[in-house]
Amino acid sequence: MRSLGNIDIQFVKGIGEYRAKILRAHHIATLEDLVYFFPRRYLDRSTVTAIRDLREGDETTVVGKVVSSQIQTGRKDRLVVLIGDGTGFLQCVWFNMINFWRKQFEVGESVSISGKVGYFNGFQIAHPDFDKLDEAGDWQTINTGVIVPMYSSTEALAKAGFTSKGFRKLLHKTLATYEDLIVESLPDELISEHDLISLKQALKQIHYPQTDEELASAQKRLKFDELFFLELMLAVRRKNYRGMANGISFQDVGDRTRRLIEMLDFELTTAQRRVLREIWTDMKSTQPMNRLVQGDVGSGKTIVALIAMLMAVENGYQAAMMAPTEILAEQHYLTVHKLLEAVDVPVRLLIGGLPKKAREQALAEIAGGEVMVVVGTHALIQPDVHYHNLGMAIVDEQHRFGVLQRAALKQKGRQPDVLVMTATPIPRTLSMTLYGDLDVSIIDELPAGRKPVRTVSRDSRKRKDVYHYVRDELLQGAQAYIVFPLVEESEKLDLRAAQETYEKVKTGFFDQFKVGLLHGRMTSDEKETVMAQFKSAELDLLIATTVIEVGVDVANATIMVIEHADRFGLTQLHQLRGRVGRGQKESVCILIVDKPLSSEARRRVNTMCETNDGFRIAEVDLEIRGPGEFFGTRQHGMPDLRLANILADSDILVQAREAAFRVVEDEQAFQKVLARAQRYTFFQRYRERMELTAVG
Ligand code: ADP
Ligand code: MG
Repeated sequence: MRSLGNIDIQFVKGIGEYRAKILRAHHIATLEDLVYFFPRRYLDRSTVTAIRDLREGDETTVVGKVVSSQIQTGRKDRLVVLIGDGTGFLQCVWFNMINFWRKQFEVGESVSISGKVGYFNGFQIAHPDFDKLDEAGDWQTINTGVIVPMYSSTEALAKAGFTSKGFRKLLHKTLATYEDLIVESLPDELISEHDLISLKQALKQIHYPQTDEELASAQKRLKFDELFFLELMLAVRRKNYRGMANGISFQDVGDRTRRLIEMLDFELTTAQRRVLREIWTDMKSTQPMNRLVQGDVGSGKTIVALIAMLMAVENGYQAAMMAPTEILAEQHYLTVHKLLEAVDVPVRLLIGGLPKKAREQALAEIAGGEVMVVVGTHALIQPDVHYHNLGMAIVDEQHRFGVLQRAALKQKGRQPDVLVMTATPIPRTLSMTLYGDLDVSIIDELPAGRKPVRTVSRDSRKRKDVYHYVRDELLQGAQAYIVFPLVEESEKLDLRAAQETYEKVKTGFFDQFKVGLLHGRMTSDEKETVMAQFKSAELDLLIATTVIEVGVDVANATIMVIEHADRFGLTQLHQLRGRVGRGQKESVCILIVDKPLSSEARRRVNTMCETNDGFRIAEVDLEIRGPGEFFGTRQHGMPDLRLANILADSDILVQAREAAFRVVEDEQAFQKVLARAQRYTFFQRYRERMELTAVG
């Protein structure tokens, strides 16, 4: 049967062999690919601003003609392209690749320019986004109120006639010729239930909308498709998982678990107890557990994981806990070791840096089942590590691991229960998508008596004042951290900054105190020693790189100074701040920033000063960075979305998800959906991606 997906682009009317080759190089290989090649943006009267009406700071689009283009030499050469629209002039400025950009503009041609308006001897936009309008006619068209779709093009595409205008014409013709091949991808019930337009209608309207309403309904329909099929795959994945009855059914909450809980020098919070009940319910079931525990920094996830491990051990199974860094693994080891050995459960640490002999012995004990609990880094999933009977696999700070690493730990046992933990709270809409196949537990309560950390920012020129303050506090018996960023490109520099500061202040400004240094290049023994000294208050001040970002837990430390705070991302700042505010005393976090701040950096710093709420912070972070970057969505096995944005389109996402999860529960409905969707290659691609990355 002929369908959009099985018609080669070469045989689409008006394409031919040569042009097909160029399209293929741009991932347009079939008629379906072409029809799903959506405009990058739309221009119309409502989205275009007259230069006369520009305001500084606005994100805007201007349509006009190139008046002049020249390279201005100076301290740094720059390209200035002047655009006029009859109401005024706008300068477009490039500081990089100026010869390349210069070639993109010819005097007299029409362009649309988008970006943030600045003012510097007149309005200007630096490094704008631009589209060429193929003829002055476009501009006229726009002015008559018609919506003009703009397609992405490249030099190679343009040479073959696929400019924005070329695509416009091609798609118009193609849709008219082949519209009968566009078969509906969704069942009728869903279409009417969600008030959607047909796929055929949507594809036409996305390419040449007559009104804003037409465009909006086309976008809604196509976004719904994307999100529905994405969620459908997640729903299938989860259903398969659920259907498995070959997991371990743990039976007894033993005596040692009770003893351990009594031994703790604190009461578990209500949230911790609730999450433990949820975990225990999963553990009893014959379905393998696949649960995410989300909890803000300091909410006490470790003890929850520890108890889950103990419950597994009491049932005769081994438990393993994997952490992303050696420092964190060591910290966990100290905690877990101390508590579990008190109830006679042997614990081992397994990290990369172990001496050969110690490692061999640990491996033998793990394989033989003498050691029941192992804490470590990805050393836990190396091929030569064999477990006697791993029944509980825990992954801490799971967002630091890839899907494959998680799966590798799971495969060390026979259908073990899996618990993944994250301190990066993810906005609900995102977690629904990323973890659609996981059950989620949330520790939404901090241990009693925690005081929010007071956060302030200080100009780096006032660093002296900050250090004076730290000195005064140390004199009162406080402990403090001073952290230097570790940005990949300049790892060495940052390390040097930490080292130099350490050398300088140890015998200088802070000479009356004991100062320690901690960074990633130290051996694990050295790191452990320093951490232990800081924990036992032998050290007053710890100068560190971001190795302390996760997990480090010293309740008496109440001051966190973050150098170059403007260079950190929000999540990282929040994690770092989470190192203080862990005890009863009020804590302070001081962000030292190098001014002037970019607007994004200012937003990050302000957000930190305004709130301690990790969920709020994650939301702002997501807004600033966008979903793709925020969470490296690819590593979670998500297909790329063309239109939908899981943040901005959360209402559609919720509907699509609900519909998808309902459909998989009804075998008949599910088969009907499959029958329709299978005609589309985009669906097959989703499927492949999801299967490839299936955790189960
Ligand atoms: P995170 O959720 O960030 O991993 P941790 O598990 O490291 O947090 O816990 C932070 C600190 O809080 C630890 O010192 C831990 O012992 C302590 N803690 C955990 N639960 C409680 C509780 N219910 N009451 C008091 N302190 C707690
Ligand atoms: Mg933790």
